[in-house]
Amino acid sequence: MLFDINKTNYKYRENFDEFPDIEKHSFQFTKCTCGATESIVVSTVSRHRNFLPVVACTKCGTLRANPYFTEETASHYYRNVYGNTHRRGRPPKELFEEQRRKSIAPFLSDVVEDFDSVLDYGGGAGGRTADFLTAGKPVSLHEVESNYSQYAYDNGILPYDKEKKYDLVVVSHVIEHMIDPVRQINEIISQCCRPDGLLLVATPIIDRQPARQWLQHFHIAHKYYFTHDALIGLMAGLGGKLVKYNGNDSFLFRLGAETDADAIGQLYARSAERIRKAIEAELRPSRRSLLSFFRFWRPHSHSQAAPRTPELSP
Ligand SMILES: [Zn+2]
Repeated sequence: MLFDINKTNYKYRENFDEFPDIEKHSFQFTKCTCGATESIVVSTVSRHRNFLPVVACTKCGTLRANPYFTEETASHYYRNVYGNTHRRGRPPKELFEEQRRKSIAPFLSDVVEDFDSVLDYGGGAGGRTADFLTAGKPVSLHEVESNYSQYAYDNGILPYDKEKKYDLVVVSHVIEHMIDPVRQINEIISQCCRPDGLLLVATPIIDRQPARQWLQHFHIAHKYYFTHDALIGLMAGLGGKLVKYNGNDSFLFRLGAETDADAIGQLYARSAERIRKAIEAELRPSRRSLLSFFRFWRPHSHSQAAPRTPELSP
């Protein structure tokens, strides 16, 4: 295991209760998105030093919290807990401006002729796709937090229309929160996307960093932590063919492709191998790691957690 909650030698981002009264809610064990059950335990702790078991699937390399929220627990969490910690007191304008700085428009500048209507799915205040408005494209937003969606509507973004199919659907930093991404992304594809349309999926990619840095990702709101290849494999299973990747967190897929089980199997096998090696490399003691351990060792108190700063969390 990489991160054991009983050990105190990690740098936690902060130390606070991510889910008050967690014992009153149900958790369940689940299979991986690839359908496999076999896994190894990677961590028992979140970046906020809360108990959170995270496993790595040995078939496709995807990491997931297991056990994790039932649908009922997730709905309670997002209604009553998440907003209080994640976007606490965040004025819509501020969220919009911050999202706008991370606009996806530059990434899509060379395919901008390929689509007209845009749907930002779960897009907060709609800042990430607002630049397409300026380019004259109709932009719509699907967002449950009404104070953020209202800000978007006041600024020319349209509400989601369930009768419409959109040329480009953006699902940015949503898939890692899903309880069942295969089912939920499939629903988005069938309900919102043009059959041969574009789907942009953005999510943190775990194998961009060495295993020792993974702890910074682990948060109780995230169930899944995908690798580059496992995400492409998952999308291939839903008919998504990779058009381009921004080298960080964003993948653009063209929908309606044939699914090729062999190609998916190869992606999963490569991803699993990469994760296995990353974990192994981290756990293997080397002369260098021993030397650096002694060089940097300092006696510490119980936890290295920084003082609690709720406005930064999670
Ligand atoms: Zn898997």
